[in-house]
Amino acid sequence: MKESMISGHTQGLTPELRMLQDTINRFLLNEIHPVEVSARKNDCTELPKPDVKRLQAMAKKLGLWCFETPEEYGGAGLSSFPFVVAYEAASKHTYSLPDPGCGVFGYDPPNILHSANEEQKARYIQATVDDARQWFIGLSEPTGGSDPARAIQTKAVLDGDYWVINGRKMWTSRADVAHHGIVFARTGTGRSGISAFIVDMPAEGISVRPVKVIRDHGTNEMLMENVRVHRDNMLGNEGEGFTLAQKWLVRGRLKIAAQCVGVAESALDIAIEYARQRETFGKKLASRQSIQNMLVDGYIEVKAARWLLWDAAWQDDRGEDARHAASIAKLYSSESSFRAVDSAMQVLGGMGMSREMPLEHWFRGLRVNRVVEGPSEIHRMLVARDILGADALQS
Ligand SMILES: Cc1cc2nc3c(=O)[nH]c(=O)nc-3n(C[C@H](O)[C@H](O)[C@H](O)COP(=O)(O)OP(=O)(O)OC[C@H]3O[C@@H](n4cnc5c(N)ncnc54)[C@H](O)[C@@H]3O)c2cc1C
Repeated sequence: MKESMISGHTQGLTPELRMLQDTINRFLLNEIHPVEVSARKNDCTELPKPDVKRLQAMAKKLGLWCFETPEEYGGAGLSSFPFVVAYEAASKHTYSLPDPGCGVFGYDPPNILHSANEEQKARYIQATVDDARQWFIGLSEPTGGSDPARAIQTKAVLDGDYWVINGRKMWTSRADVAHHGIVFARTGTGRSGISAFIVDMPAEGISVRPVKVIRDHGTNEMLMENVRVHRDNMLGNEGEGFTLAQKWLVRGRLKIAAQCVGVAESALDIAIEYARQRETFGKKLASRQSIQNMLVDGYIEVKAARWLLWDAAWQDDRGEDARHAASIAKLYSSESSFRAVDSAMQVLGGMGMSREMPLEHWFRGLRVNRVVEGPSEIHRMLVARDILGADALQS
């Protein structure tokens, strides 16, 4: 992939961060991009597994491994701001959704594990980092995902030293490939009646049914019938599951926002290059105002999305409550990146629809980002509550 033509995103970065960004850019250009070109021609929907393994070893050596996991566990230990800079850079290639490089940079253990006890951390975090293990998060159910505190019906009942879990989860990404998962289940009533459990896969009593969706990577429905989980595998205390999930929301939102910014920028780069080369009616597309408008609007939206993202990341790094800012960043970047990719497809005309180009792949992947990690409507609702006051929403 070419150097970005709409750069400027290096402004304000320390030399260390520029170096990190540059290392990632070069890794993408020299290692990931050549593999992607042939994978795309062969109609693949992800990087071939042997290439992922080979590239993982290289990324590990370069220190581009598990960006947000603390260094003591072998991760890069990036706090929120360096993390979003790295994650945006790592998302500027074809197969960057849902995971940059299809896992080439390792899989960070779910953030919620940082609230685990020492024994759980020792058992799960190091192994996840070392072996690039994947996790699933089982929060959403067929009864709903926007409002899990009310929708969760899966139940966990204590039987001696084991919790026995029964219920059904919906849209559980990676449940078909994960080594471990976190299941949220009801151990009581209301918000404070939800607990979180670490489940080792494959687990007796769990059956997984793949559910295909608009993006190239599907998701799953998960049926749990008398799944026995040792009481040592409860995360936090009984009834704390929902609070813990809330505590780690910010990073999830920042991650999606950074990914969206990276992809939108890559899409605009392609469209700018195309508009400069392509001639119709005796003139370059770039000379047409209707084409310029699409590119300029996309360019401004990407810049705005990045500033909202950086603002949220800085707030988080300063130890402030960044939930409001992260909601805004996630909402704006997921919606504006979708518009940017749509515009890029329009500028390329027929080529924009071609499966040989990454645009249609991003278009479908980004559509999902407007629903996961809180759909747009829920983020608008949260921001409305903050700016209008909760009481005004009831009146
Ligand atoms: C590809 C994919 C991967 C996913 N991966 C996971 C995963 O790994 N783990 C997991 O737990 N979940 C996962 N999800 C589930 C996702 O988090 C939910 O789809 C999402 O939270 C919305 O829940 P829902 O689909 O039940 O929609 P609902 O909650 O039924 O909402 C339907 C629509 O109504 C809107 N809406 C809801 N309430 C309001 C309101 N008060 N005001 C206005 N509008 C409202 C919503 O925004 C949405 O547009 C995944 C979903 C997809 C599509």
